[in-house]
Amino acid sequence: MFNDLRNKRVLITGSTMGIGLAAAQAFARCGAKVGINGRRAPGNLSTLLADMGQDGGEATFFAADLSNSTACRTLVEDFVARFGGIDVLINNAGGLVGRKPLPEIDDAFFDAVTDLNMRSALMCTQAARPHLAASARASGETAAVISVGSIAGHTGGGPGASLYGAAKAWLHNVQKNWVDYHTADRIRFNIVSPGTVDTAFHADKTEEVRARISAGIPMGRFGSAAEMAPAFLFFASHACSGYITGQILDVNGGQFMP
Ligand code: NAD
Repeated sequence: MFNDLRNKRVLITGSTMGIGLAAAQAFARCGAKVGINGRRAPGNLSTLLADMGQDGGEATFFAADLSNSTACRTLVEDFVARFGGIDVLINNAGGLVGRKPLPEIDDAFFDAVTDLNMRSALMCTQAARPHLAASARASGETAAVISVGSIAGHTGGGPGASLYGAAKAWLHNVQKNWVDYHTADRIRFNIVSPGTVDTAFHADKTEEVRARISAGIPMGRFGSAAEMAPAFLFFASHACSGYITGQILDVNGGQFMP
């Protein structure tokens, strides 16, 4: 179904574990050339890369802390130097950083949350744009930017997560401008917006809290990282979504229905 992803050059930020890693593995199974990224190499890196190679793809790890604009640009240039271009950028790096209610938010926390969730996506997209446009020109099809939003971008976020929720809402919004002004480059911009997904993101939750959250999800459970992956394949594939841009796909077991 995703045959056109073979040999596509796909850069996924924040992909050493969780949703980003599951997406990377799914792209590898489609025969894509995948760049995985994190601040530092995970302990099981060589196994991860070898497994993705055996599955038919090719994967390379790029260390970069994307809270920093220069690191975003360097990541994109390193990926392009390795693979000769870029067809798909997935802005996945993101996270809570911590939980702070309004009275406790200080400048350092504000910067940390917005740098990780907003600056990283903006600067990676800015750096990748000319390469994506070149890819689309060469193929005669489209290139894709897929950003990872969140249910928190719709609802405002849980306890102490107001800035995180707002940063995701910003992502949901900023791509509308990118669609308006960069569709001429034949780049499509879409968002995968997960609900509650069982990753390290929720490591701070007790079983009791997890049960309470699950009870509020019509499907009665957290999603898995693997269940997010097909949405990325869909938006990356020109054959599947060549006329789809500016959309948010909520993958959340019915937890929130916009
Ligand atoms: P995770 O904590 O399992 O993975 C986060 C990944 O980001 C890791 O690979 C980590 O190395 C990387 N990362 C963190 N800081 C980084 C930095 N400064 N520079 C580069 N890489 C960095 O989290 P996850 O649940 O897989 O989350 C992935 C994305 O999905 C995030 O954008 C998150 O906000 C979003 N999301 C998650 C959920 C959920 O319930 N898990 C829900 C909605 C949205």
